[in-house]
Amino acid sequence: MSVRVRFAPSPTGPLHIGGVRTALYNYLFARKSGGSFILRIEDTDQSRYVKGAEQYITETLSWCGISPDESVGRGGDYGPYRQSERKHIYRNHITKLIGSGNAYYAFDTPAEIEEMRNRLITKGVATPQYDFHVRENMKNSLTMSAKEVSQRIGAGEHYVIRMLIPENEVVTVHDIIRGEVKVHTSHLDDKVLFKSDGMPTYHLANIVDDHLMKITHVIRGEEWLPSAPLHVLLYKAFGWDIPVFAHLPLILKPEGNGKLSKRDGDRLGFPVFPLDWKDPATGKVSAGFRESGYCKEAFVNFLALLGWHPESEQELFTMDELIEAFSLDRVGKAGARFDLEKAKWFNQQYLKSMPTEQLVEVFEENLKEHNIPAEPELIKRVVELVRDRIVFAVDLWDHAHYFFQPPDDYDAKVIKKRWKPGTGDHLLLVKTAWETLPQFSASALKQSTIDYIEKNMLHTGQVMNCLRLAVVGAAKGPDLFDIIETLGKEETIQRIKKAVLVIEEK
Ligand code: GLU
Repeated sequence: MSVRVRFAPSPTGPLHIGGVRTALYNYLFARKSGGSFILRIEDTDQSRYVKGAEQYITETLSWCGISPDESVGRGGDYGPYRQSERKHIYRNHITKLIGSGNAYYAFDTPAEIEEMRNRLITKGVATPQYDFHVRENMKNSLTMSAKEVSQRIGAGEHYVIRMLIPENEVVTVHDIIRGEVKVHTSHLDDKVLFKSDGMPTYHLANIVDDHLMKITHVIRGEEWLPSAPLHVLLYKAFGWDIPVFAHLPLILKPEGNGKLSKRDGDRLGFPVFPLDWKDPATGKVSAGFRESGYCKEAFVNFLALLGWHPESEQELFTMDELIEAFSLDRVGKAGARFDLEKAKWFNQQYLKSMPTEQLVEVFEENLKEHNIPAEPELIKRVVELVRDRIVFAVDLWDHAHYFFQPPDDYDAKVIKKRWKPGTGDHLLLVKTAWETLPQFSASALKQSTIDYIEKNMLHTGQVMNCLRLAVVGAAKGPDLFDIIETLGKEETIQRIKKAVLVIEEK
């Protein structure tokens, strides 16, 4: 039997990176085993439906290079792949469950359920629920005549259809990551499976679709583990084979305590969504990894390692290498701590191996935005000089703007620390020595500067730092003489004269 897995998000808002990781693990597992990866949209809860969320899911997967074999867009033999288009299927199946005595109609109003809860609480029940203890005392098809049930339905009364959880049984969930998880049915309530508006709840729709779509492995987030025993009982009630489960560990806050949330991202200044998301109700934009400057290869690589541990020490993986190395039995049970510095490190590694032309394109855009015309040769040279210093492609501007704009001001801290009486004169003399050099090259400039420092018994750091301050405006950048060679003679001379004038006049 060939492997078939699915990613089944609900379009209730932007996909959190935890959801993207679930999609990724499903995809890697499918590709590794030569199986199929299905994208199913679980949109039965219309009250939680958010406009644009489905498109966000599709766009995210496509950005990450996670391509479904079957989906709303691609079609497939087991469609439709949007649950709201499968309503008739769920209705047929719930009818079967009622027929076999595994489900029943319930007419209790919210007030009556509340009353039942309060009654149980006063009797000392800690977590009252609609289960075998109470179902015999409630308004449902177990306590009413068949005639009354059909009269109520005929009169258009609101109802729900509940699962009849068997009494006194132990349900076993086989989970690749967690082993055997056993739960006694006394802990389960008679969950609602269907509502009189014709809509199934998540549990029914999910199980029916996994069966009809021939899903072999259910790989999903840990938050669904408590639902798994009910799902096992549903498979049994229908008389179907049960898929293998794999409940993935949570992605934890950077501090390690609790699930990573949007609030953590806002608090610590990093994205928790793959792409920018504009809330259609408030218009508020939440940052995405893509727009924050992460390249998709780095994002996917980083996510893959949040919970899965490869056999080797290797950290950098292409998608093909991930497919090759991935296995569910190397996914840990414990939550995986989100580490922003590690995410940045991955991005930096990918930027290092990116072809210069790609970075040149980004930088050309930056220059255009700032209305700075520049020769392609110069742009390329500058990108080569600073590329190892950047974490994001968008950092190029911060790290290289001074090649195209003389400094407007000079870092006050550096002035205070390095600029001594007489520094200005020394800088002007160094500049004069440079002017006579046959070649304005980094090596000749460096030699000439060292000669001057030695002849005048000066402090190397002091002179070099002040020269850098004069040409860059701050204590940053690649090799000083590479910068000066790139700026050229005229520009360098101007900058040194200006710096001495501005700083010494202060
Ligand atoms: N629709 C559920 C969700 O939003 C799917 C859970 C599952 O994979 O079974 O995550």
